Amino acid sequence: MTRSTPAEATPTPSGATCCRCKRWTYAPVEVGYIERPSGPGVTLYACPSHAVSMTPSPMPGEAQRPA
Ligand SMILES: [Zn+2]
Repeated sequence: MTRSTPAEATPTPSGATCCRCKRWTYAPVEVGYIERPSGPGVTLYACPSHAVSMTPSPMPGEAQRPA
């Protein structure tokens, strides 16, 4: 648990837009994070039904881990 979520990138606690179906969900699941050079990063959320079928993006330090 070394990751930190920038406050400015955190959506409203009431929910978020699913990055797969673009529909609003009141139970968003974090499935990825996009870093941008000119601004705060964007956290990707998915609705519960899509989150289970999506593989979370590898975080820095995890991609190089041997199998
Ligand atoms: Zn969805």
